[in-house]
Amino acid sequence: MARYTGSVCRLCRRENLKLYLKGDRCYSDKCAFERRSYPPGQHGKGRSKYSDYAIQLREKQKVKRIYGVLEKQFRLYFEKADRMKGITGDNLLLLLERRMDNMVFRLGFASSRSEARQLVRHGHFLVNGRRVNIPSYLISQEETIEVREKSKKIPRIVESLEAVARRGVPHWLELDDKKMTGKVVLLPSREDLTMPIKEQLIVELYSK
Ligand code: SF4
Repeated sequence: MARYTGSVCRLCRRENLKLYLKGDRCYSDKCAFERRSYPPGQHGKGRSKYSDYAIQLREKQKVKRIYGVLEKQFRLYFEKADRMKGITGDNLLLLLERRMDNMVFRLGFASSRSEARQLVRHGHFLVNGRRVNIPSYLISQEETIEVREKSKKIPRIVESLEAVARRGVPHWLELDDKKMTGKVVLLPSREDLTMPIKEQLIVELYSK
């Protein structure tokens, strides 16, 4: 499966926003964005004017990078969001938020979404008691995600759970860190997603 293999810190600098792609490092003074908060490249510091198209494009790239989704799949999410009732932009973000790798990250079983994706692919989690190893699996309300018995001693999972106190678990999720089980109490609403995202720009971009 295709995936981005370049420097992820570069992506934060490109989007002019901390995207928290590197787990604990993002919360430390080693964060590259804290040290060089301007776009990468020779002309990174000099560029100041952007066209409407460039602004819309950047917003789409930002959201793709936050959730670690590539173009084709992102487009499919958009088309699905567009077919759903309600506001397309809100639907798009809520679909991305329901991805299993995102939920594993939000529950604190992994320190970043990319780590969560790898752990999911390796089959370390059960959803409602059944093994699910598809990062894009859409979690529904009331579903539970638990770490498999044989995976409960994996250092990455244990360390991430220790760090979850610092990051916190969103109010729509319920975590039992002793049992390594989480539950989606309710699905998030747009207001619950606090990253600075202007999803309307993405809708405008794809509607051209
Ligand atoms: Fe982004 Fe994290 Fe790298 Fe900082 S450390 S630039 S937040 S990925």
